[in-house]
Amino acid sequence: MTSSLSERLLARDRGALARLISWAEDGDPRFRGALAAVYGRVGRSWRVGITGPPGAGKSTLVSEMARLERAAEREVGILAVDPSSPFTGGALLGDRIRMEARTLDPGVFIRSMANRGSRGGIARATVDACDVMDAFGFDTLLIETVGVGQAEYDVVRAADTVAVVLCPGGGDGIQAMKAGLLEVADILVVNKSDLPGAEILVEDLEDAVRDRWTSSKGEWSVPVVSCSAGREEGVERIMAAVADHRAYLERTGLEEARRARRLDQIKDIVTERLYEEIWDARGWGRRLERDLDRMGPPYEVAEELLRSILEHVPGGNGTPAPAEGAEA
Ligand code: GDP
Repeated sequence: MTSSLSERLLARDRGALARLISWAEDGDPRFRGALAAVYGRVGRSWRVGITGPPGAGKSTLVSEMARLERAAEREVGILAVDPSSPFTGGALLGDRIRMEARTLDPGVFIRSMANRGSRGGIARATVDACDVMDAFGFDTLLIETVGVGQAEYDVVRAADTVAVVLCPGGGDGIQAMKAGLLEVADILVVNKSDLPGAEILVEDLEDAVRDRWTSSKGEWSVPVVSCSAGREEGVERIMAAVADHRAYLERTGLEEARRARRLDQIKDIVTERLYEEIWDARGWGRRLERDLDRMGPPYEVAEELLRSILEHVPGGNGTPAPAEGAEA
C-alpha cells in the first residue's frame, strides 16, 4: 500500500501526492515508509516561503509568481499553510478565484494545509509536504503562510528563500519588525506599489536593513523590492531577487543550509513523537491528572517526572544524564 502510493507519486500521480500530504498533515504513521521510498528524489525543487501580515497581498503575489514560473515553463507546487486554524481549505484558498484559475493548469498544484492539532506539528508537516512535492518533481515550491507570529516563522523555516510581503498603510512595516518577521526575510517585498506611501515604506525598510542585518545574513544583503501584484506589475523583479538569492546560496552554502534544515526536521519529529509517547501512549498525562492534587509545586513534580524518564536515557558519555546541579 505504502510502496504503491510512493510509486504512484514518482509516476506523477496527483492523487497520490494529495494523499501523502494528508498523511503528513495527520501525522499518519504510514508517511514514514512512503517518504523513505521517495527520499532519493528530494532536493531538486527551490522552496520559496512567502509570509507577512494579512491583506498584504501574499495570495495575489503567489498567484502572479506561479504565472511567471509557468510562462518560463517551470512547474509549481503551492502550499498555503494556516498555522492558527484547524481547518483546511475554506477561507484560505476556497475564495481565491485567481488561484483557482491557476488550478486548471496541470503544471500547477495547489494545496492548503492547516494545523490539525498535533503538537508543533504544522512546521514538521510543512517540511514533509514540501519533501513529497519536491519528489513529485516541481521546479518551484511556493509556501504561503497567513498571519504574523512564531508559528509562521516556524513554517517558513522550511524554505530556501523567504520573502516577507508588506504593503503601505496601517504601519505594517513597524508591526512586522515587532513580530520579528524581518529577521527571517531574505527578500523584503513592498506590494501595492500603486498605492501612496509605497516609496516611503521602501526607504524605511532599506534603512532598517542597513541598520540591522549587515552581518547576520553573511554576504547577502536583503533587497527591498516593490511590485504591484494586483496590477501584475513588477513581479518579475521579485522572481529575479529569488533567483539572485538562489545563486548566492548555491555559491556559498546551500548544502549547509539544507543540512541545518534536515537537522531541524529530525529534531521536530523526535520532539513530536516524544510528546505523543510520554503524554498519550504511555499514559503519563492521565496519571499526572489523576495524582495532581496530592503532588507538590510544579517544578518539583516536573523534575521528578523527568528524572524517572531520563534515568533510562544514557547521557553523552554512555552513563545516565546527571540530575540538574549534580555537576556544579
Ligand atoms: P493576503 O491576505 O496577504 O493573502 O492578501 P490578498 O492577496 O488576499 O490581498 C489582499 C487585498 O489586497 C485584496 O483585496 C487584493 O485584491 C489587494 N491587492 C493585492 N495586490 C494588490 C496591489 O498590488 N495593489 C492594490 N491596490 N491592491 C492589491
